[in-house]
Amino acid sequence: MNEHEKIFIDYLKRSDLKYTRPRQIILNIVFNNPSHFDVETLYDQIRRNNRDVSRATVYRTMPLLVKSGLIKQSLRCQAKDQYENVSDQDHHLHLVCNNCGKIIEINSSELENRLRSLAEVHKFKILDFSIGAQGLCRKCSNKRDKETKS
Ligand SMILES: [Zn+2]
Ligand SMILES: [Zn+2]
Repeated sequence: MNEHEKIFIDYLKRSDLKYTRPRQIILNIVFNNPSHFDVETLYDQIRRNNRDVSRATVYRTMPLLVKSGLIKQSLRCQAKDQYENVSDQDHHLHLVCNNCGKIIEINSSELENRLRSLAEVHKFKILDFSIGAQGLCRKCSNKRDKETKS
């Protein structure tokens, strides 16, 4: 059993929930994923090999994984909630392309330190960061430049 499974099973036990086969499948696929994913993409992946896992189950399992501390909702992108694994990740900020949905991760320690000292002035305790920006990735902005020129 791997670390994620242990954490998830502990959480389920505490909440009087069972570690069902669909939950196991969802957990494994979440942790085989690249760091960011949305629920629809995850569901498509699951359906490829597991026809018996329903969309409703996938949607209902997301909040459980969030509450167990294994994943977090990282940002909203193209009207979809994006999740990411929190296991071995540093804080980072997201640059999100509004056109193609590409997500670029950038180290945010400098910004975070700045935010921490700003928060301190207000005696504010920071629990989590969600910093980022939306715009166009290089590919999409090049494409747009060409379109406006022609
Ligand atoms: Zn783009
Ligand atoms: Zn991220």
